[in-house]
Amino acid sequence: MIDIRSLTCDELEELMQDRGLQRFRGRQLFKWLWKNRIDSLEKITEFSVALRQELADAFPLYDLKQVRKLRSSDGTVKWAFGLSDGLIIETVLIPERSHSTLCVSTQVGCAMGCRFCLTGRMGFHRNLNPAEIACQALEVRRQESAMHVRNIVFMGMGEPLANLENLLKAIDIMTHDLGMNFSSRRITVSTSGIAPRIIELGESASVGLAISLHATTNEQRDVLMPVNRTYPLETLMDACRQFRLPRRKRITFEYLLLRDINDSAADARRLSRLLKGIPSKINLIPFNEYPGLDYREPAEETVLHFQEILKSLDHTVIIRKSKGRDIAAACGQLFHSQGTGTGAETYLIKDNALA
Ligand code: SF4
Repeated sequence: MIDIRSLTCDELEELMQDRGLQRFRGRQLFKWLWKNRIDSLEKITEFSVALRQELADAFPLYDLKQVRKLRSSDGTVKWAFGLSDGLIIETVLIPERSHSTLCVSTQVGCAMGCRFCLTGRMGFHRNLNPAEIACQALEVRRQESAMHVRNIVFMGMGEPLANLENLLKAIDIMTHDLGMNFSSRRITVSTSGIAPRIIELGESASVGLAISLHATTNEQRDVLMPVNRTYPLETLMDACRQFRLPRRKRITFEYLLLRDINDSAADARRLSRLLKGIPSKINLIPFNEYPGLDYREPAEETVLHFQEILKSLDHTVIIRKSKGRDIAAACGQLFHSQGTGTGAETYLIKDNALA
């Protein structure tokens, strides 16, 4: 059965043509789905009653089912959404001064196995289809229209570049001017470092890139992020140099500071050398200690010293305070055991966090 929310505007035009209708019906349908945010095809008042009924019978719409919604004391909102097969994903809305940033999931769980990440501990269940990716933004806009979602970051559950085809379709849907009309300049795709797909992404979409780097030697990174054994730092940095950046953009390098693991002055200097020749900015993220993860938060003075070294070497570097810690919405904390999908009993992290 075709999920028409997984189709781009062009594909909907083709679908309508294949059904013996005029192509512009596809554009109308796309607009009603994504701009007017209908939850039933019977609400398309531009179509005759007979056509509405025909389409509704042929293409059932699957909405994300809200399993849980939590609001942090700092304004961050986290949703657990149920999918049609009962699996559950999480989506996080992070308020900033004049707008909000939405952190979107691309897979159920993740196969990359990064040692510091709770999502990695879930293992991999499946890729999200384009509809399931884009509908996270649709549902959040429906519910939180006052929070002005401006930025989209693909940094939720999963490795986006391991689901590149569906990700690209979702970006096409989300940025289309007849649909949600997000600016591609406000979209950032984050990756643990699947080097060939980084280049492919740059050739296929004009979006920002964030690299979860987190280590400055292959020895360190092999342990923290198994992807490094396939694409070591030299290969990763080479792919970053080849990435086709949108104009006036820089690649963001995320660097999680783990006490006594990767937070030394030597690490800071090595990081600077790695980024040589790459238009870049660095986000330092002091690790959030969490039950079940062995790493420790760095000392505050270590974080500041790390930042100072990088600044003295002419880097733009920000210390990113994790938001939503009290609802387990911070970086690396998205986790949902995939049980019966009924909610309360599967929401392990939330219950731990608030205990
Ligand atoms: S950090 Fe990202 S790529 Fe690594 S396991 Fe977690 S979700 Fe997957």
